[in-house]
Order: sequence, then structure tokens, then C-alpha cells
Amino acid sequence: MPSSELGPSGVSWVERYQAAALGVFNPHLVLERGQGAQVWDVDGREYLDLLGGIAVNVLGQAHPVWLAALAGQAGRLAHISNLYTSRPQIELAERLAALAAGPRAKSARVFLTNSGTEANEAALKAVLRQGGGRHQLLALEGSFHGRTLGALSLTAKEAYRKPFDGFTGPVRFLTPGDLTSLEAALAQGDVAALVLEVIQGEAGVVPLPPGYLNQARQLTRQYGALLWIDEVQTGTGRTGTWFAYLNEALVGPERIEPDLVTVAKGLGGGFPIGAMIALTEQTANLLAPGDHGTTFGGNPLACAAALATLEVIEQDDLLGRTAQFGAAWRRELAAIPGVKTARGAGLLVGIVLEKPIAAQVVRRAETAGFLINAPAPDVLRLAPPLVLTEAQAKRFTAALPRLLKEET
Ligand SMILES: *Cc1c(COP(=O)(O)O)cnc(C)c1O
Repeated sequence: MPSSELGPSGVSWVERYQAAALGVFNPHLVLERGQGAQVWDVDGREYLDLLGGIAVNVLGQAHPVWLAALAGQAGRLAHISNLYTSRPQIELAERLAALAAGPRAKSARVFLTNSGTEANEAALKAVLRQGGGRHQLLALEGSFHGRTLGALSLTAKEAYRKPFDGFTGPVRFLTPGDLTSLEAALAQGDVAALVLEVIQGEAGVVPLPPGYLNQARQLTRQYGALLWIDEVQTGTGRTGTWFAYLNEALVGPERIEPDLVTVAKGLGGGFPIGAMIALTEQTANLLAPGDHGTTFGGNPLACAAALATLEVIEQDDLLGRTAQFGAAWRRELAAIPGVKTARGAGLLVGIVLEKPIAAQVVRRAETAGFLINAPAPDVLRLAPPLVLTEAQAKRFTAALPRLLKEET
């Protein structure tokens, strides 16, 4: 439903957007404010935000702790460049190293960025600095790693890469679960790294086949290649653990030790920030002075927002809550007629439909006051704030049978 409120010129906000903004997106809702998982558009219509800005707003909108941290930091020091550092930046780097590397935190090193694609660019440059003829990258079919040219090279979807042929690097895409082709590729001896997502969010919330991550870790180690896990969508609590590679429900009881981890989306609770975490002494030293840089990355304001977000996740036990809440919700959703299964982990949920009607259902849901999206023709994605209440979740569960039945 278009936002109809007219600006001073008598033209709608959407028309003004279309006349002013580049046409790569196609929004037709003009949102004005939010509180927790509720948002309102410029016409005052209310929506339950079950997408959380695409797995970003883990604390919902206007969380008081997050707000106070940002306002306080903005009043002290907002930006300083990387010629200097700040307490929030140091604290965040320490925190991320500890969360990602656990007992190996001392050898871990963190590079802060403004987005997921930039975190992946940093990791890509790092793995390419190994030398020794290791210049080949392995990624998986269905992968999404970002839109800048390096990260785009690692993104499977050909429609995204093709227009930029010649500016993208050499990457081999393997079938998730196919260990034979993985081992054959690694045996060439020229592989710098295998990059993968534990759950492929953009492909439709598709978890890796059981056992694959453990095997991939073993094989990459055996053949001297690095394992880089892209946790941009699945990290910082989304699946009910700090990172999806620590989620036993997804990867089994054996601890996976990646060489590199990238995060972004949920990290800042809505403030743009990303990070590349090099977990080992070897990866921590790949990028030398002059090899990489950023003006905004690690800015005190972004770091304060991230620290506040991580603090609330911990203090309110949002990890434990997310794991349980998500599992119970998926069971309820899976029992609805027209739903084949509900997959994912924690509050990253892919509702797989019996028919490829996801796009229509997204439109009907919006009219009914629910924000969701369709990463695949037969998949609805939910990635709500981790502070979503059970009553809010139930409202959607109760509405879904009707949303699936209505004819367009
Ligand atoms: C969203 C996403 C990215 C890109 O992050 P941006 O912040 O949009 O650049 C990279 N990898 C994965 C797995 C993502 O979901």
C-alpha cells in the first residue's frame, strides 16, 4: 500500500523518492518511526517488523540502552579517523576477539568496517596475501557475500556478477555438501581460502548440509587452505549463539575453529558497522601496514552502538531466549497448511511454502501489517528483532494461514 501523504509540493513521498534516488531499489513504504518491533509509516499505519532491517535491528527500534550509548558517545567524540584510536574501538575489538576466538582470543585481531561487503573485502585481501601461489578462492553455490567487486566475485548468483565480468576475480563455486569436489579443488595446492555461510540467508535461509562444515574444516587444514566463515547475516546472536559456527544445533558438538570470520548486519543494532576477525596468528599478520585502510571503519560512534548492542544481548540473555523462541516458533509455522517446512536457527527463519507464491504473500502480509520478505520464490524470510515478544510472533502465526490462502 503506497504511502500517500503528500509533501509540500503536492507530490507523494514515493514519487519524490523515485525522482531523486537511483533506481536500484523499489521501496513503496515510507517509514517514519519505530519502537521495538513496531514501525509506523508516514501515514501513521503500523507494521510488525519481522525482517528487522534484514537481520540488522536485533534490539528493535529505539532501544533505551542503545539510544543512550549513541547519544552519550555523539556528545563526546563521534569521529576521529584511524590516525587515532578510542576506548570504544579498543573495547569492541577485544570483545569481538573474545566472542569469536574463545580460548584463542589472544592471537585474534580485528579490523572494523562500515558494512558486510567491506568486512569481506578485508578478508579477501588478507587471504590473498598468503603468497606461495595460493590465489584461488573457493565459494559455494547459493552464496551471497556482498556487492562490491571483491565480495561480488565470491557471490554465486550470476545475474549479479555477469555485468561486471572483467572486474571480478577468479572464484570456483562448489556444491554445498559435495566433499569430493571440495577435496579435488583443494588438492590443486593453489587455494587461498574456502568462504562459506553456515546458513545461506539470501539463498532462502538454507543451512549447510549436516557435517559439511566439520569436513570442510578438516580438509582445508589438511591441504593448507584457510577457512573463512561469513557470519554477516548469522552472527551476533541471530541464531541463538554469538556466531552460527558455535551453534551445536547447526554444526554438532565439536567446536569449529575458522581462520577468519566476517560480521556486520546485527553487530551495530542498526548502526552501520562490520568487522573482519582474524582468529589465528597466521591470519592476524596477513595484512601489513599499507595493505588496507578505511576512513570511517571503527569510528567511536559505531563502536559505541555495537558495544551497547552486545551488552544488551548478554545482559538480557537474548541468546538463550532466541534459540528456544525460534525453535518453538518454527515448529508452529511448519504445522500451517501450505507450509512445507520452517528451517533456519534462532530468529533466522525460512518458511518454505508448497507453492512459489512467496512474493504475493509478502504483499498481502504488508497490507495486513507485517513486514517480511521473499529471498526465493517459495521462501518467506523472518529475521525479526531478538526482542520480539511472543504475543507479536503469535499475531503473525495466527494471520499466516489466511495470507497463504487468499487468491490474488
Ligand atoms: C548482507 C550480507 C552481506 C553484505 O553486507 P552489506 O552490509 O550489505 O554490504 C555479506 N554477506 C552476507 C552473508 C550477507 O547476508
